[in-house]
Amino acid sequence: MDYSPEPYDTDNIFAKILREEIPSFRVFEDADTLVFMDIMPRVDGHMLVIPKTPCRNMLDASADQLAACLKTVQKVSLALLGAPYGADGITLQQFNEPEGGQEVYHLHFHILPRREGDSLRPPRQQGDMEVIKAESERIRAAIEAAG
Ligand code: AMP
Repeated sequence: MDYSPEPYDTDNIFAKILREEIPSFRVFEDADTLVFMDIMPRVDGHMLVIPKTPCRNMLDASADQLAACLKTVQKVSLALLGAPYGADGITLQQFNEPEGGQEVYHLHFHILPRREGDSLRPPRQQGDMEVIKAESERIRAAIEAAG
């Protein structure tokens, strides 16, 4: 193994979201993970799943952090398929280090609810906050309904 990452930055954006120092649209949390809306959504309903404990990405994450995140990814994804939310499929993305496409250095998984015939918007485009808020409410309701 030859992976010597930069030290974890406790002031990265997602650490601040975890500490509620900056706002986010939270849709689900359990003891180990938090799910909130991406504010530059590639599709409506684009969410991020993060561990509550620090790690930079998939490469330095513990097995427990990875398992907790994927458990939440699966739970939330299943809740979005079919009624009431209406997703037809799920795209899961995860990036590591700048060359791997990573921009925020706290492990995160992108959940992209997909609908028949849709296509991904370009990255790094600010979303409409009213649409993101409305999506977060629909997603929260679907997760609650799924139990
Ligand atoms: P990446 O590190 O490439 O996987 O991408 C980081 C993701 O974080 C991007 O999809 C951004 O749109 C998203 N993002 C950045 N800042 C925020 C924020 N304050 N709240 C929600 N999502 C964010």
